[in-house]
Amino acid sequence: MMQSTDYGAMESAGPGLLRWSRRPRPTPADDQVLLQVEACGMCGADVSDIARPDASHQRRVPGHEVIGRIIDRGSKVPARWQVGQRVGVGRLGGHCNTCAYCRQGRFALCTDQKVLGVSQDGGYAELMLATSTGLVSIPDEMESTAAAPILCAGLATFNALRRCGAAPGDTVAIHGVGGLGHMAIQYARRMGFRVIAVGRGDDIAAAAIELGAHHYLDTNHADAAVELQRLGGAQAIITSVGDAEAVQLLLPGLAAGGTLVVLGVGKAPLSIASGYLVGGERTIQGSMTGSPDDSERALRFSELTDAMPWIEYLPLSQAQQGLQRLMSGDATFRIVLVPDEQALTRESVK
Ligand SMILES: [Zn+2]
Ligand SMILES: [Zn+2]
Repeated sequence: MMQSTDYGAMESAGPGLLRWSRRPRPTPADDQVLLQVEACGMCGADVSDIARPDASHQRRVPGHEVIGRIIDRGSKVPARWQVGQRVGVGRLGGHCNTCAYCRQGRFALCTDQKVLGVSQDGGYAELMLATSTGLVSIPDEMESTAAAPILCAGLATFNALRRCGAAPGDTVAIHGVGGLGHMAIQYARRMGFRVIAVGRGDDIAAAAIELGAHHYLDTNHADAAVELQRLGGAQAIITSVGDAEAVQLLLPGLAAGGTLVVLGVGKAPLSIASGYLVGGERTIQGSMTGSPDDSERALRFSELTDAMPWIEYLPLSQAQQGLQRLMSGDATFRIVLVPDEQALTRESVK
């Protein structure tokens, strides 16, 4: 495999559709490395990446929770990244180091960012090119399959919790108990918050509690905002739900001085009375994923506190099946693609 002249990849073939393709083995540019992919998580954002109108034209490879081993490197790649080393790449695939935001050290806001699955091929493949500024070190002890989901689902929620303004002892609501939410609950619990998981339906109640939530509120059976107020109000609400109406319904549960951190991307506008923000000095904050340094912190925090993704393995060649489950909402907390030859020997973990 290492020396073969071509490699396999699942490429987008129109909305909701992936197709297996063979491609010539690429040579990394000066600032790139070539990775042998060991694991790639399937994120909800992949669905819209695959559905992009230009995607089939570009034959884009989705996937932005990638762990791989460096098998080739360009001449200008810094010495810290060597052949044989295991690294990761998240949604933000490499900043430019020259734009105004990069000069301020705000790499996640880079205006010339390589975005995996959108402007650059991602990890639903046996091999992947990666830009050196986007590379993340992976702790030796951590399995590739466990590390992969931390690079988006973990990082996004870790950073959201770090910037939400809540202090240990405060109440934090985690809205949405899926790929992102199941990491958010674990992190929030370990950061010392009173954790209120908010979801739809009672089928995930037990999982939410097992993940570390102190309470689970089912929006099918209760007004979660009223329940949050009964608990004193949430200092922060972290929402990974894209449905604006669901977010609006929960908003009255925010304490005065509290912050709503938005991670979910929906099409409908979020409507909020200005008086509600002004009167209670509340904040709404958007949060993306983060920089490679943030990723390394998230990995370290996961390792130190044993906050690990709950995952189910799928062979790379069966990514279409995983995509269908993502679209129908029938996915487990994280589906992780692994090379076909490894998939048979693995069992799901939580
Ligand atoms: Zn993602
Ligand atoms: Zn930049």
